[in-house]
Amino acid sequence: MVTIKKDLRSGQSVWTAYPRPKISYENLITNVRADILVIGAGITGALMAESLTDAGFSVIIIDRRIPLTGSTLATTALIQAEIDVPLTKLSRQIGFGKSARAWQRSKLGLDSLAEKTRLLGISCNLRPELSLYMAGDVLGPDELKKEHEALRQIGFASDFISREQLAERYSIHAGSALLSSGNYSANPYKLAHGYLKNSTKRGAKIFAPEEILDIETSAQRVYAYTKSEFCVSARYAVFTTGYEVPEQLKKQNYKIFSTWAMATEKGAASDMPMLWEASDPYLYVRRTKDGRVICGGEDEEFSDEKKRDAMTPKKMKTLQKKMKKLLPSVNNTPEFAWTGSFGVTPTGLPLIGPVPGLKNCFAVLAFGGNGIVNGRIGAEIICNYLAGKDDQDADIYNFKLPSTV
Ligand SMILES: Cc1cc2nc3c(=O)[nH]c(=O)nc-3n(C[C@H](O)[C@H](O)[C@H](O)COP(=O)(O)OP(=O)(O)OC[C@H]3O[C@@H](n4cnc5c(N)ncnc54)[C@H](O)[C@@H]3O)c2cc1C
Repeated sequence: MVTIKKDLRSGQSVWTAYPRPKISYENLITNVRADILVIGAGITGALMAESLTDAGFSVIIIDRRIPLTGSTLATTALIQAEIDVPLTKLSRQIGFGKSARAWQRSKLGLDSLAEKTRLLGISCNLRPELSLYMAGDVLGPDELKKEHEALRQIGFASDFISREQLAERYSIHAGSALLSSGNYSANPYKLAHGYLKNSTKRGAKIFAPEEILDIETSAQRVYAYTKSEFCVSARYAVFTTGYEVPEQLKKQNYKIFSTWAMATEKGAASDMPMLWEASDPYLYVRRTKDGRVICGGEDEEFSDEKKRDAMTPKKMKTLQKKMKKLLPSVNNTPEFAWTGSFGVTPTGLPLIGPVPGLKNCFAVLAFGGNGIVNGRIGAEIICNYLAGKDDQDADIYNFKLPSTV
């Protein structure tokens, strides 16, 4: 097997409540070839295929599941520039210069994703959002002030909001917070669907359900062998397989955790900012266009799916309780409850680049709470590699060579 296999999610995600436009995919019935093979048709594969076809490459996309039914259907789709690890903490891990570049690239990735989505005319309820980043046990009020200053230094503007102002302006009951603008929310299925649709319009082919079981590489080509015993021959292959990580990357510096989310009935809340807490386990809340409140977090540091699924009722009670405390006037009864695997790295940064030991193969592990934006950054960086262009930030995300793991 070329990638690990997981039960990526369970329960009922809120996105199943909305119409899901059809995706044109077919069964693989013969050997095929293209410039580039993209393995995985989730949001990351969709963003990758769109960028590659836009750059003029011919693309084949293969997925072992029906497209967009992996963890993409579980995301709560807060589309934001902020990295999970605060700038002040990331600077202590990888230095200020590199951290500043990572945060700035995240903002560029977010802006280019929003702009491209608009240019392509993708209808996915993409909405600009105000965001409140609230003090918690990872950053207390004093540390949040320092974070505010550090962010200002690198061009991230925000307002410092006191406990009293939070209650008065937003009816939110929490400590201090940073208020910023420029993030987004969207329906992630429709967002990814739009990117796949634009790729197929430019000639990309999606084959599903079909599994890549083995890969052989030479100096010139990649040969990927499928479960139905066909071969996909390509100049390059890109793994966009989400938390089902390629075997070659199993020892990289990441962990697969478990996470939970719930959504209320429609109309539970009128306009409100996106919220997330600088806490461990963290909590985040956002509103859909039709007024459902989505609340998620409560991560656990294990990935065992049976254990994860068994904890869902207990985790829903905790999320409900935390949401009540934060937003006392909102009906917190969950109409949707779900759980999923979730990849994290110690830096909060995705892992992107050539796969060590696998010639002509690349991977985008779009891990972290802003996996969607990380997928966009991955598409930009890999596209630059394949077009022979330098990407000045590629070094931030590279995989470690086996000898240094
Ligand atoms: C509850 C929850 C909330 C989240 N909230 C947010 C959020 O608010 N904002 C955000 O940005 N991110 C969030 N995330 C993270 C986000 O969901 C992920 O970053 C994103 O879904 C990853 O997409 P992907 O395309 O990489 O993976 P997937 O959607 O899982 O797609 C990968 C595909 O690869 C296929 N595949 C794997 N191996 C093979 C193989 N050998 N052959 C063929 N196909 C293969 C799989 O079948 C799968 O369909 C959240 C995640 C969870 C679980």
